[in-house]
Amino acid sequence: MSIAMNYAEVKSRMEAACVRAGRDPKEVTLIAVSKTKPVSMLMEAYEAGARTFGENKVQEITEKFPQMPEDAKFHMIGHLQTNKVGQVIEKAVLIHSVDSVHLAEKIEKEAAKRNMVKEILLEVNVAEEDSKFGLKMEEVIPTLEIIRNFPHVCVKGLMTIAPFVEDAEENRKYFKELYQLYVDIKTKNIDNGTMSVLSMGMTGDYEVAVEEGATMIRVGTGIFGSR
Ligand SMILES: *Cc1c(COP(=O)(O)O)cnc(C)c1O
Repeated sequence: MSIAMNYAEVKSRMEAACVRAGRDPKEVTLIAVSKTKPVSMLMEAYEAGARTFGENKVQEITEKFPQMPEDAKFHMIGHLQTNKVGQVIEKAVLIHSVDSVHLAEKIEKEAAKRNMVKEILLEVNVAEEDSKFGLKMEEVIPTLEIIRNFPHVCVKGLMTIAPFVEDAEENRKYFKELYQLYVDIKTKNIDNGTMSVLSMGMTGDYEVAVEEGATMIRVGTGIFGSR
């Protein structure tokens, strides 16, 4: 299957999941996760309609960014080291993977230098897997209460990477949990009203994630093939 066909299929499945959940498909952004893939393949996805690309390495974003059309946007979805924030802050429109006050402080500093406000998500390790980065559920609100005072950082929402499972249904409970936390934060206005993004769901489980309230899904293999 071509990238264009894959992209169209993921889009239509995503839209069908929206319909099942009584949601407007316009609420959900499909992020084409292009890590390890060459720019020629990103351009195939671009021609098929993709405008948002997810990368997990700073070096890949800095290489691909200048080669893509201006309306193609990059999201940083991988673990970010504080010493690389400066390289990526102007190239990634959204950083999904903020998992500490320390990292947010560094983003604050680099954003302040450039007189910009950087949009970020807090990464949450909902399933508490040892192999994954991310805040624990109970750490999210205390962390947010600190970061919301940073003038050059705007917390737009929450992100999770669910466990790798054969049956996507096994992850439904984690998506439900994160959605509930997201709604709690909004209801109690802990975010100062900035939260509007819930980034969850990958190739194996994006339909379940959409049914449970995802507003961004991150699909790599389903669009570009295996890595
Ligand atoms: C690689 C990656 C994805 C995409 O994974 P696929 O299973 O290929 O869709 C999504 N999110 C993050 C954070 C990733 O690193």
